[in-house]
Amino acid sequence: MSGNAQKVCIVGGGPAGMMAGFLLARAGIEATVLEKHADFLRDFRGDTIHPSTLQVMEELGLGETFLALPHRRVETLSGVVDGRSFRIADFRHLPVRHRFIAMMPQWDFLNFLATEGRRHPKFMLRMSTEATGLVERDGRVDGVRARGPEGETTVEADLVIAADGRHSVLRGASDLPRKSFGAPMDVLWFRLSRRPDDREETAGRFGRGGILVAIDRGEHWQCAFVVPKGGEAALRARGLPAFREAVAALAPYLADRVDEIASFEAVKLLTVAVDRLTRWHRPGLLCIGDAAHAMSPVGGVGVNLAVQDAVAAANLLAAPLREGRLTDGDLARVQARRMPAVRATQRLQRMMQDRVIAGALDATAPLKPPLALRLLDRVPLLQRLPARIVGLGFRPEHVAAPAA
Ligand SMILES: Cc1cc2nc3c(=O)[nH]c(=O)nc-3n(C[C@H](O)[C@H](O)[C@H](O)COP(=O)(O)OP(=O)(O)OC[C@H]3O[C@@H](n4cnc5c(N)ncnc54)[C@H](O)[C@@H]3O)c2cc1C
Repeated sequence: MSGNAQKVCIVGGGPAGMMAGFLLARAGIEATVLEKHADFLRDFRGDTIHPSTLQVMEELGLGETFLALPHRRVETLSGVVDGRSFRIADFRHLPVRHRFIAMMPQWDFLNFLATEGRRHPKFMLRMSTEATGLVERDGRVDGVRARGPEGETTVEADLVIAADGRHSVLRGASDLPRKSFGAPMDVLWFRLSRRPDDREETAGRFGRGGILVAIDRGEHWQCAFVVPKGGEAALRARGLPAFREAVAALAPYLADRVDEIASFEAVKLLTVAVDRLTRWHRPGLLCIGDAAHAMSPVGGVGVNLAVQDAVAAANLLAAPLREGRLTDGDLARVQARRMPAVRATQRLQRMMQDRVIAGALDATAPLKPPLALRLLDRVPLLQRLPARIVGLGFRPEHVAAPAA
């Protein structure tokens, strides 16, 4: 690999893939993003744009345009245990320009990146195009096989970036070693209507045997009901009226509309998994985002980490790609840069899952606010620490790759 500028094929148009495609094309690298869906409209995704991502937008000169899109600002986070509210995190002191989480449908974020990406001549987005496998030659990855509107096709590339999410096909095809951690919970998603006079909601609600998080989507609440791992069957067996009652008990302000859950057909199960590759790369292939490390929904940091991976990858790979000298060592540098943040975040998520979530989901255990929650609420200064971890992450990345 030497001489001319090298080409990149990015598989997956989620936060990691779209940000990587945009940043590489902006740096003058030919970057093709393949996305299997025809659009970005998907319901069950993180809708949180964290202060560190807003900072990246600022560094790209896009902060103002981005925040002109409809969003809601969340400056603090709370937990409600058995009806009593505890403040957990306060973002208003972070050392960045935008000290809040912007709640914005993920499709708006991805459409924004697509629009900005298209301003760069080297950016190409191929929707409705699904990667089906890797093309390999002499032990290195040389491109991907894909199925798109024009039928079966091959996309050749000097580097393939797998950003195809937690069920990554490419990661499966790559044989990269993976470490899986259990998760004590699954999440059931459903919608309830939102009324103009509804209160703001920035809290997770903990009750006996269940946790509810409601995300404001303007005309509706996107609700996440957390159940013990494998608990969906028992919940269904108890019947719809019991489920509606459980939702109403956790969030009394929704009691007048739980009948909108017409059947269990409207309730979608998302199994929670936490895992990570112990090696993110092979010659010609790099995994980032959920494809490299599936995150727990605890703290809602998956989108943030995916974006940070993309920024680090563009920072470290743009120059070698442009100069036609990319090596496996460059790919190893991306993993070395991002792995400590991933490891630390997952460790914290697993601790929260085991100590707080599992306890709350045990219907037989007494429901008591954990000591940490009570302390955070009582000492506001302490709320800056979770704000920093959730808002900025353990290793915030800054845009270094210059625009071509
Ligand atoms: C229940 C739940 C709630 C969550 N809540 C939050 C939250 O509040 N905040 C937060 O930050 N994170 C949250 N997350 C995590 C967050 O959604 C992910 O961590 C984040 O989206 C990862 O980004 P990604 O780009 O790596 O992967 P993804 O967002 O999964 O994107 C992968 C993309 O690749 C495409 N794709 C897949 N296979 C192929 C293929 N073969 N060919 C072409 N394209 C393909 C997919 O269609 C998708 O668009 C949550 C996750 C879950 C499961």
